[in-house]
Amino acid sequence: MSEQSDTTKPVSDARSVVAFMGGTFDPVHFGHLRMALELKQALKADQFRLIPCGDPYHKSKLVSAADVRYEMLDWALRDDPELMLDDRELNRQGPTYSYDTLVSLREELGSETSLVMVVGMDSFLSLPHWHNWQQLTELGHILVVHRPGSDLELTEPLKSWYVAHKAAELEQLRSNANGFVFDLKKTMLEISATQIRGLLSAGQSPRYLIPGSVLEYINHNGLYRA
Ligand code: ATP
Repeated sequence: MSEQSDTTKPVSDARSVVAFMGGTFDPVHFGHLRMALELKQALKADQFRLIPCGDPYHKSKLVSAADVRYEMLDWALRDDPELMLDDRELNRQGPTYSYDTLVSLREELGSETSLVMVVGMDSFLSLPHWHNWQQLTELGHILVVHRPGSDLELTEPLKSWYVAHKAAELEQLRSNANGFVFDLKKTMLEISATQIRGLLSAGQSPRYLIPGSVLEYINHNGLYRA
């Protein structure tokens, strides 16, 4: 019998989409969480992961211990069916490179899944200082988020690289496993971890900027006090 394609099988061109946001999350706040949920919905992603970094070699300021930042994220996401906590960078020795994270995610997810790394515009502008930065799109896509009205002010060599990899629409990130950069005008909430640490060290409350469970954890452990 000659081999024929099985037309009874449902033909699906749907590719799984996994997006993630890395960061120090010191502490996690509603800016991170709201952005993650909005992007998960915009991308119609199957998963959205928050990946706390272990040893942030490119951030000079001191950060809380990895297990503390992990526990705060765990409290924030405990009852959330939409967002996932991924601890792969915490288990890695030495400096954290996004390139290695993408390699490890690609190993886990296989070559067909669309893998989307979300970065803030400020981080994107420093891309040429990242390890193997020009190879990042060989492993996944980059989704840049920034405030509406502020255009990307790119300089070389990032400018040419961006033009060469720019996606015309978000859909291209869904329909390809890797290869594109998309600049999404999304409104970030005006919240930063720096602001929250500042409030706490001044003896003021960051309530309504971070989840209640995270604030309880911070208070219980006396974090960020002057
Ligand atoms: P810090 O104030 O300590 O620099 P942060 O609040 O900027 O911290 P990070 O942990 O450095 O938080 O950021 C993790 C990721 O979340 C980065 O990609 C960053 O661009 C993004 N991010 C930070 N704040 C917001 C926000 N308010 N809305 C959306 N995304 C944010």
